[in-house]
Amino acid sequence: MSDVSTEAPAQATKPTIFFDGVSSRRRQVTLTLGDALEIIEEGGTPVRWAYADIRRADSPAGLLRLACTAAPPLARLEIRDAALASDVTARCMRLDEHQTSRRGIAKIVGWSVAAAVSIVCVVLFGVPLAADRLAPLVPKSVERRIGDAAEVQVKTIFGRSVCEGPAGKAAFTKLVNRLRDAAGLDDDSMTAGVLSTTVPNAFALPGGKVFVLKGLLDKAESPDELAGILAHELGHLKHHDNMRGLIYNGGTSFLIGLLFGDVTGSSAVIFASRSLVEASYSREAETAADTFAIEIMHALGRSPKPAAELMFRITGKEGGSGLTNILASHPLTEDRLARMTREDRPASGPPLLTDKEWQALKLICGSGKI
Ligand SMILES: [Zn+2]
Repeated sequence: MSDVSTEAPAQATKPTIFFDGVSSRRRQVTLTLGDALEIIEEGGTPVRWAYADIRRADSPAGLLRLACTAAPPLARLEIRDAALASDVTARCMRLDEHQTSRRGIAKIVGWSVAAAVSIVCVVLFGVPLAADRLAPLVPKSVERRIGDAAEVQVKTIFGRSVCEGPAGKAAFTKLVNRLRDAAGLDDDSMTAGVLSTTVPNAFALPGGKVFVLKGLLDKAESPDELAGILAHELGHLKHHDNMRGLIYNGGTSFLIGLLFGDVTGSSAVIFASRSLVEASYSREAETAADTFAIEIMHALGRSPKPAAELMFRITGKEGGSGLTNILASHPLTEDRLARMTREDRPASGPPLLTDKEWQALKLICGSGKI
């Protein structure tokens, strides 16, 4: 906030409009051009965008539309005043850095063709043959964009409140990092969060986004129970199961999104990401993710059995009861529990979290009921 007092708000004769990317409300704002761009709505909390993070978005003539790489993917700032627009653009050195190069366009067209081929294969042969081949080949940058778009939709479905209790967050990060390291996933872009909803589930989105829903955390009685399920989700990430599901279930949306060049701008993505969250992975994918989870837990000197017991408690109590049966995408048969039980080992590694860290994690969403 250092420069706020020395910089007068930039005056504009035409209104500047801001969409925060979370709600669809149009906000009339003023801008302050300090050490960062400050977006001020009367009576609201100012939003700061670092100049280096600001990118040009597609817009009609006479309007400068900006996005910010550090803001929610749908956040947009619309400047209609030409003088103000040129003041702002003069400060944004990386404004056009993301503009699709000739090579970039070739890549998008290439992947669109590939997605189309995949759809044709699904239609003609009725098997996700192409999806199986394609999923591991999708470029990381594309995967990440799809993950960003899916995250917006997931938060629409499950509520936007990411649990932020600082001690709980630190414990969660520690747990996820230990699993990630043991899994050999060297992806720096991997993120994990707890969403405040009573649904007992966990899932992974393309681009390395792992979500645990509070309902699952509430039912977990030890770090090992939660860790095994997270490890299973890392398995789906490692095997690109979510991309495979997306190409197979949401291939059309995938194609449409790519053709429009702005995945987040396409309402088709709603369909695509619903199919992600509700994805039924194949039995083979589930078994492979279980194998992966068993290996990670063993590598950490911990047993995979508690995770199976947690899943069993959830599906056992709520199995078959419609909407609450969220773990339907991860059906736990007696076989799976039996397998995890066979892989049970006495602990040979240190606990994944201390008691204190575990208690903090359990309270990451606050102590109140949702
Ligand atoms: Zn699974």
